[in-house]
Amino acid sequence: MKITFSIRISGCATKCWHCYVNGGPGRIMKYNEYKKCLNVISELISYLENEDYNIDLFLDYEPLLHPDIIKIINLTAYRMEKNYNFKNMPWSTTGIPISKRNDYKEIMKSLKNIDVNSFMISFHGSAKTQIEALKYNNVDEVQIDAMEKIKEAGFGLVANFIISQSFIKDFQSVYKRYQKFIDTQRFIVPLFVPTTRLRKFEKQRATVNDLIELNNLIKKIGLKGDYDMLDKGKITEKKVYNNVREKSDIYSSFEKIENRQPDWIFISILPGLDIYYGNTGSENFKLGNLYNDKPAELYKKIKKLKSNYCFRNYYRIDKLPKPSLVAKKYGDPKGNKVYASEEDVLLKWVDKFVQAIV
Ligand code: SF4
Repeated sequence: MKITFSIRISGCATKCWHCYVNGGPGRIMKYNEYKKCLNVISELISYLENEDYNIDLFLDYEPLLHPDIIKIINLTAYRMEKNYNFKNMPWSTTGIPISKRNDYKEIMKSLKNIDVNSFMISFHGSAKTQIEALKYNNVDEVQIDAMEKIKEAGFGLVANFIISQSFIKDFQSVYKRYQKFIDTQRFIVPLFVPTTRLRKFEKQRATVNDLIELNNLIKKIGLKGDYDMLDKGKITEKKVYNNVREKSDIYSSFEKIENRQPDWIFISILPGLDIYYGNTGSENFKLGNLYNDKPAELYKKIKKLKSNYCFRNYYRIDKLPKPSLVAKKYGDPKGNKVYASEEDVLLKWVDKFVQAIV
């Protein structure tokens, strides 16, 4: 069983419209509080690792905004070397802290020391769309400045192209604008999870026909990269609707569908050191507080938890009705928009069901 502990040391400078963890401006976890957090977490991790859990530590949202980020990176790498591992992983950022901070060179140096060798930035469309999508003035210019600094410091750059109707419309101009900075690109169909942000994004979600158009544009340019999501993107509401109605054994309960997901528990820790059973941005089920609860007590609670990779991150799934009932009432048998996974479509229907009863 894998466990990821996400620690929130800061908020984000932006409020990206595709954000599945509902990021946005938020509190800073003071450095001393972070040290306390690591003290408790490292003891908790040692209990869990004795039981063969595989533990990762992650700083969520936009940690480079934290005023003491260099100290935090150094301390975390020193104390949690085994669980805080960035080898061969791009560091996700909007680029805003890299452009705006005077100490960006020192930050980059500390990232190099923990084996970060590339950054990942998401793009949504033209400069105008990018500003609208991130809700941050002049973000297009700020990101170009950040990308120049990234390349100057010898890092690689991965572009996440976030597929939406606007992105497809702007694709050629976007690519032209950023091409000289990009080493590799990934095409991402945004997830659906039950948050206000992603409910709003639904009107921007691309259809199968939009994807065909995008594929043709990519071929025309002769672009190489990771197109996995473009293939997975063929999952539509219509397809999932038919599957749920026809394969009743596979889709007999949400519990059964959750059991098909990776064996993975997500736990989040926020400023103030409240600890939650849930992935970043989902703070439904509180486990305790790192000031008040001893590691041994938290360990006993965590040992009883089941994986919350998907539905359990948001719902008490034993209280949900059968997927076929939710599909019948809230599914669109003709829905032609594209999703990243079947579970996203099911989450969309469950969200409608839960909203209807609240
Ligand atoms: S996508 Fe990333 S940077 Fe944007 S709001 Fe979400 S967590 Fe913050």
